[in-house]
Amino acid sequence: MRLYLSCDMEGTAGVCSWQQCDPSDPHEYPIYRRYMTQEVRAAIEGARAAGIRDVLVNDSHWDMRNLLWDELPADDDLRVTSGTRKPWSMGQGLEAGFDVAFLTGYHAKAGDAATLSHTFSPETLYNVTVNGTPCSEALLVAALAGSYGIPVMLVTGDRTTVDETTRAMPWCVGVAVKDAIGYSAVNSLTPRAAQEAIRAAAAEAIGRVGNARPFAFESPFEMVVETVNVENADFIELMPGFERTGARAVRFTSPTYPGLLRAFIAATRMGAAANAR
Ligand SMILES: [Zn+2]
Repeated sequence: MRLYLSCDMEGTAGVCSWQQCDPSDPHEYPIYRRYMTQEVRAAIEGARAAGIRDVLVNDSHWDMRNLLWDELPADDDLRVTSGTRKPWSMGQGLEAGFDVAFLTGYHAKAGDAATLSHTFSPETLYNVTVNGTPCSEALLVAALAGSYGIPVMLVTGDRTTVDETTRAMPWCVGVAVKDAIGYSAVNSLTPRAAQEAIRAAAAEAIGRVGNARPFAFESPFEMVVETVNVENADFIELMPGFERTGARAVRFTSPTYPGLLRAFIAATRMGAAANAR
């Protein structure tokens, strides 16, 4: 069995501030990237205890070179995608052939009253819906997995995103490593306790694969992206296929979900270009 694992950082146990997730921070980031890596390692170990061998990890946070290589299992059945920009971003490498997907360190979507809540680019995106459903990064990636018939079986992160994801995918095992007190404050498990919970949940998740379903929206797919600034929408609207639906809103439709998501990733990058001065 083959596992695809996309790991973000803001939903890691203990994380409560952007400094801890910002690779340019010399003090806190080096500590928290280790916790992020250890949560990924725990998920791999749990999955392997339940029969998984091949694993592809997609480092999915910021510049996507956060994971500490020497904290990961040292065998050639584990591969890691590292570096920025990856064409498929948080879904890089996700394709037919995997049996199961995990999302670790994931966080609440833009607009949620939760710690570090955002969707892809906090300076660019205010809200994203697919077929009318407001989407977190977890749902957007889960639907990509689902389009290839792959179920997401484990989600770890803050309680808001874990609750939302497991509501949409009741077969998915969730580990809520922390509760939000505010945008920049948490009540968290310790990293080591979170890692133990993730290890156990990963094993349980693999055991449940037989009862799972891929998560999918219905074709045709319609995405509405609300931007933070008018100028973000000005830029996105330039791309063929995007329709301006409001001062800060654009719409895109696609017969396939991968086609929708690649347009979304392009829109995120194009929209972010408008923030450069
Ligand atoms: Zn992130």
